[in-house]
Amino acid sequence: MLVVPLIERKRDGAALTSEEWSALVAAYTDGRVPDYQMSALLMAVLLRGLERQELAALTDAMLASGQRLSFDGWPTPRVDKHSTGGVGDKVSLVLAPLVAACGVAVPMMSGRGLGHTGGTLDKLEAVPGFRTNLSLAEAKAQVLKLGCAMIGQTAEIAPADRRIYALRDVTGTVEAIPLIAASIMSKKLAEGLSALVIDVKRGSGAFLPRLEQSLELAQAMIALGEDRGCPTGALVTAMDRPLGRACGNALETEEAILALRGEGPDDLMEVTYALGAEMLLAAGVEQTSQKARQRLETALASGLAAEKFEQVIEAQGGNPRVVDDPSVLPQAREVEVYRAPRTGVVTQVEPRTIGRAIVAMGGGRLTVEDAVDPTVGFVIAVKPGDKLLAGEPIASVFAKDPGGIKTGFETLGRAIVIGDRLVQQPLPLISHRVTKHGVEELVRGTARDERDA
Ligand code: URA
Repeated sequence: MLVVPLIERKRDGAALTSEEWSALVAAYTDGRVPDYQMSALLMAVLLRGLERQELAALTDAMLASGQRLSFDGWPTPRVDKHSTGGVGDKVSLVLAPLVAACGVAVPMMSGRGLGHTGGTLDKLEAVPGFRTNLSLAEAKAQVLKLGCAMIGQTAEIAPADRRIYALRDVTGTVEAIPLIAASIMSKKLAEGLSALVIDVKRGSGAFLPRLEQSLELAQAMIALGEDRGCPTGALVTAMDRPLGRACGNALETEEAILALRGEGPDDLMEVTYALGAEMLLAAGVEQTSQKARQRLETALASGLAAEKFEQVIEAQGGNPRVVDDPSVLPQAREVEVYRAPRTGVVTQVEPRTIGRAIVAMGGGRLTVEDAVDPTVGFVIAVKPGDKLLAGEPIASVFAKDPGGIKTGFETLGRAIVIGDRLVQQPLPLISHRVTKHGVEELVRGTARDERDA
């Protein structure tokens, strides 16, 4: 295949045809196009962008490189949630069993933590024995039986994405919005979904911090989903501070379990219920956000959601006792309390600083192959706007050795900023709802939903 003319055309800002994208992705996946040519093309895409037709062709080609789950003839609706990632974002662990407990199947496919952001697979694998590497056939059988499976990208799904993503990771081309949209949607569209809901993070701890970038990504993914028969919507949520209190794999899993038992922090529950309501509406099992939320709250309060998580853990080889007794999770060797260094108001809890420190303490990875220590991290009890007295306990550091505690303390000293007053308001927890019809700004973190009026 002659790749140089394609690179030159993209470099000069022209569009490639759908046939060209399709042939190129197939040839790259088979090893007939070398990494250096694909890298040059990806850089040209980062600089020049993709037209809508090109993005669709690239996504279709990546999707076609692998297999797809099919639930033909099964009447139960299937909905997944995707998050663009952040720090303390353990929503998937609560949401998947919760939505499944409401009668909507969730074939959830998640990723690992990379860079400063955490990943659902690492959090699940903190549960002793939990297997995330189910085959597609195993995942399908589990979804048919339990209404929920929580897996990683299998070898069968979008192999072209796996190769291209690895190449982007080492060529400075991860941040290209069309490439992100194609990468995520080629995997999500392989799940045999009836609908998809996306949690697009914004703020300093997000993969793409600026609102315009979040909205552009959301709209690109929505167009791809809708054009392929998978109704897709998004909520834009805040990542200018960690979500919930726990940051670090086993600590987050414990917080997710507490949330399923009705003891979750308010911000985590608010985001979980809002995304869950979107999933129930998209599945068609409820017609208003209010009713959807009530159904979710009932499933949680009745214990059905926690029971569903227990069943999923057991089916995937994990120790289900963890739901009753989170001390089954691996525990950090060193734990120390961090106290407020002065009296004042919390003006910032910087998520990127926290996420990077978790990596430095051994709890995240620098390359996809790195092993993670599930026990390390932080529990941070304060949010921007909270008033403090000097000496008050405001966080705990969990580490594998005294060096980790020292790193943790230094990190909290930088990440938790205390001033005399709040200078800048934190971002609204849930600020926008995006659908194929456009972008709706939300008020006070709840949907201004005409359908409920
Ligand atoms: N997650 C993905 O799966 N792909 C990207 O490109 C970025 C985040």
